[in-house]
Amino acid sequence: MTKQIALITGASRGLGRSMALHLAKRGVVIIGTYRSAAAEADTLRQEIEALGGKAAMIALDVSNSASFPAFAETVAETLTRFGRQQFDFLVNNAGHGLYALLTDTTEEQFDSLIDTHLRGPVFLTQKLLPLIADGGRILNVSSGFVRVTMAGYGLYAAAKAAIQTLTKFMAVELGARQIRVNTIAPGAIATDFGGGVVRDDANVNAYVAGTIALGRVGEPDDIGGAVAAILSDDMGWANGTTFDISGGQAI
Ligand code: NDP
Repeated sequence: MTKQIALITGASRGLGRSMALHLAKRGVVIIGTYRSAAAEADTLRQEIEALGGKAAMIALDVSNSASFPAFAETVAETLTRFGRQQFDFLVNNAGHGLYALLTDTTEEQFDSLIDTHLRGPVFLTQKLLPLIADGGRILNVSSGFVRVTMAGYGLYAAAKAAIQTLTKFMAVELGARQIRVNTIAPGAIATDFGGGVVRDDANVNAYVAGTIALGRVGEPDDIGGAVAAILSDDMGWANGTTFDISGGQAI
């Protein structure tokens, strides 16, 4: 049977890494990207192969849309190695947080956030669409900050809100090809995100845990497992929607 293939941006660490492992455990072939953490990406490839799966890792800076045509060519070559011409799931996950009060925010910070969290997913998806199989799925990664406010995260949240809105329009435009487009909005998860503050600062960790109904901060596997489930055929009627996956944060 032909194996499904997922392309996950930002697979080298954090949420993307967990998504890759959960999907690989379900038999999905992984094409992961990394920006600078080549060694971590290679370790992930080895872990997937040790599970009996297949994976390839490709460098990508999602904030540099000029690089997307060459990236798409590399993806096409990689697919040939896996015996396919198209892949099934695109997860627009890569990104960074940024704490910047509106009074201090620079235009460079603004550009960096918009390029990474909006321009990148838009034009990467556009370039990759010919390589996505009809009936495939696109999953964008938003944030709980769209729903919950905290000083210093306004621009980041605005970029993540834009991707939620865009998801609905993408779903409408791609429906004719039976491509489902959804978004996840994770709550606070213990990763390197934001300098690792939720994971490493005991006070912040305890404070955030107190805002979550289940009484702890999220772990990468809480999101990796959810993504594998959302991309499964059982969730095929979900389209153009945002899944809040936060353990019940600030509800
Ligand atoms: P991590 O910092 O742990 O991992 C970020 C990943 O994205 C790495 O693989 C990194 O590559 C890659 N990356 C970062 N910037 C770029 C870029 N410009 N181009 C290409 N790749 C890039 O973060 P998380 O796993 O926590 O975050 C993943 C996504 O989830 C992000 O979009 C984030 O905004 C979102 N999110 C995170 C939450 C959290 O609490 N952790 C909550 C809600 C949303 P490399 O390793 O090579 O640097």
